[in-house]
Amino acid sequence: MEISMQKIREFHRQSIQDREGFWAREARRIHWETPWSKVLDDSRLPFARWFVGGRTNLCYNAVDRWLDTQADQPALIWVSTETDQEIVYTWAELAREVQVAAAMLQSLGVVQGDRVLIYLPMIPQAAFIMLACARLGAIHSVVFGGFAAHNLAQRIDDAQPGVVVSTDAGSRGGRPIAYKPLLDQALSQSVHQPDHVLLVDRGLVPMSLQAGRDLDYATLRARHLDVQVPVVWLESNEPSYILYTSGTTGNPKGVQRDVGGYAVALCASMEYIFGGKPGDTYFSTSDIGWVVGHSYVVYGPLLNGQATVMYEGTPIRPDAAILWRIIETHRVNALFSAPTAIRVLKKHDPALLTRHDLSSLDRIYLAGEPLDELTGQWLSEALNKPVIDNYWQTETGWPILSAQPGVEEVPTRYGSPTFPVYGFDVRVVSEASGLDSGPNEKGVVAIEPPLPPGAMSTIWRNDERFVTTYFESFPGRQTYSTSDWGRVDDDGYWFILGRTDDVINVAGHRLGTREIEESVNTHPAVAESAVVGVADPIKGQQAVGFAVLRDSALLDAPDGRTRLEAEIKKVVEQRNGAVARPSRILFVGSLPKTRSGKVLRRAIVALCEGRDPGDLTAVEDPSALEQIRGVL
Ligand code: AMP
Repeated sequence: MEISMQKIREFHRQSIQDREGFWAREARRIHWETPWSKVLDDSRLPFARWFVGGRTNLCYNAVDRWLDTQADQPALIWVSTETDQEIVYTWAELAREVQVAAAMLQSLGVVQGDRVLIYLPMIPQAAFIMLACARLGAIHSVVFGGFAAHNLAQRIDDAQPGVVVSTDAGSRGGRPIAYKPLLDQALSQSVHQPDHVLLVDRGLVPMSLQAGRDLDYATLRARHLDVQVPVVWLESNEPSYILYTSGTTGNPKGVQRDVGGYAVALCASMEYIFGGKPGDTYFSTSDIGWVVGHSYVVYGPLLNGQATVMYEGTPIRPDAAILWRIIETHRVNALFSAPTAIRVLKKHDPALLTRHDLSSLDRIYLAGEPLDELTGQWLSEALNKPVIDNYWQTETGWPILSAQPGVEEVPTRYGSPTFPVYGFDVRVVSEASGLDSGPNEKGVVAIEPPLPPGAMSTIWRNDERFVTTYFESFPGRQTYSTSDWGRVDDDGYWFILGRTDDVINVAGHRLGTREIEESVNTHPAVAESAVVGVADPIKGQQAVGFAVLRDSALLDAPDGRTRLEAEIKKVVEQRNGAVARPSRILFVGSLPKTRSGKVLRRAIVALCEGRDPGDLTAVEDPSALEQIRGVL
């Protein structure tokens, strides 16, 4: 088949060869209170500054700007199948709630540059507070509700928020999950203490308030109704938010984003990648604690004048047709979800897929983890809709590789997120030589700086770590490493082949195995451990732990093994949350290591997945691998 991909290739070429011209045109999509003096300052690469000198505001562009034309149309559609609630906020109502939230934060002393930490489930107040922070120039940091006390404490100490916003509880599968006790526990562990904790009382579980520190959202809201809070115009490169993400160390990295570049990039992506226009309705099932939630539940759709669906619930409750029912009811044009959700749906009655009128839906986008061919094909054929696999990371803020139907419709290929997105100068680079790889050669997916608008500007308060973590992977060149393996085929289609590092991906949740190991090691019986990601048919990967005990005689006690395994899993759950809990903990006498003491994770994973562990000449003690084989 002759494929025309001229437009998409040309669009990409322009975005790289004439960066300033390209982004100057795109920047017209948003309101600038003061125009920029320079589109790109790349004088200090790998740091890039976009739209230098321009002043704008994310909240103004996402909310106020749409009041003249569509004040009475839906803006935020909140659906909770957990509490059986549905609230549609029009643009006018959204604007009002955001103003109130901004006034509330102001009354707590929040000013430009202050941090506000948000530890909330998928409830509208999370979006109100995010947008209120943006209005004031305060920097929000949303922490995923599925994380537990230790993760939360680490983030509180790093971001040092003046205010934390939380709630009595979230809910999963119809059962309340208390948040406040986890927050209290985190605050008893963190060095930094916020001045105030603002609590949305959902009435799901009782919660105790600490006098002087803890405040009730509804009470404070009632004091600020109908207050107008002026927008704080920010220089384009001021920080807008911090979102922590896992890496190879135990300390999460605070990915920092700017204001103007993010606004422009997200707004443009809504048209070029997601095929949207003002007045459309967009539905991303992601949690706001992950980057997809920031970019495509809150900012992206609203910046482009599109209504956004915020969903609290699972894809299978009350039944596995719930996503399609929401699409039918709210005439959704584009759905964004994760492969795991679709693999879960695959196990249910296929008739549920065709029960609803999906004529409004143009396309389905899946990201966050590898999309296997079978799942992509199954969904596309069952719904008779295009399924678009898009590849990106917390760091980039929006897709690196994706079909771009708003630029040109091109044939997709199952298993491939297709082509580089405009603005990203993506390469496959050899780790050994630092040179670009040829067609079909495996290498590391890398991006030539400058990173485009909307990508991370640095690591919060740690410029040095930004450079060393991302830009020092290849000999002789300062190119951004995604830490993913990749390959490009003869026709230019890209394939992602897994992580180069110890980061794993469980049901679309990016987790650092180091963080889980640190938690396993806090159990008093454990001497050392290795946690690896093992292939799982539904979740993509699952964490499996191997622990060496201080005293192996503990295993001889009746139920010793089962009890210890349960205890260690519990420790991980309490420190890192249920998402990080290993599916199994296996006990071994020693871990397979190289002579320099590095754990041979790849060999362990291979054994777990029943594959050949490969070249083992570097193993210090081959019997350690035999033990792993034995316990499996
Ligand atoms: P996160 O920063 O949590 O979004 O995780 C980013 C990582 O998820 C990437 O570095 C990849 O390893 C993986 N990932 C995201 N999207 C895809 C995709 N479409 N295909 C394959 N892997 C993906």
